[in-house]
Amino acid sequence: MSSEFPGDDELRTRLSDEQYRVTQQKGTERAFTGAYVDHKADGTYRCVCCNAPLFSSAQKYDSGSGWPSFWLPLAGDAVQTIVDSSHGMIRQEVVCSRCGAHLGHVFDDGPQPTGQRYCINSASLDFAAGPPDNSDDKGDSQ
Ligand SMILES: [Zn+2]
Repeated sequence: MSSEFPGDDELRTRLSDEQYRVTQQKGTERAFTGAYVDHKADGTYRCVCCNAPLFSSAQKYDSGSGWPSFWLPLAGDAVQTIVDSSHGMIRQEVVCSRCGAHLGHVFDDGPQPTGQRYCINSASLDFAAGPPDNSDDKGDSQ
């Protein structure tokens, strides 16, 4: 909770229509249309709104769902889950812990060791190439 949050005006200007719709209005991109569905490079996936590191390529896997899928977020508290009872289903919505941007949903049919599948919209992510972040690194507070 700090003043580095981008405001709504800034987000409308900086994000594409699709990025804005997904992150701010809980939209979902169409399956297999996102930039990062088959993306396999090493690096970190950051929040497209506030730049917080959210997921690492080290925990990305091919779920076949048509959306980028991860079995673990970075550093435990990078993302939050909220019960989403819209559309007649009970699902776990995944949001950015720092700015609250909508990211996707998490399901319990993922691979071991977590058994979780974080099903994330490419439109919510901004990829930065580099060595994958290690979630045990606590010296990253800047
Ligand atoms: Zn964010």
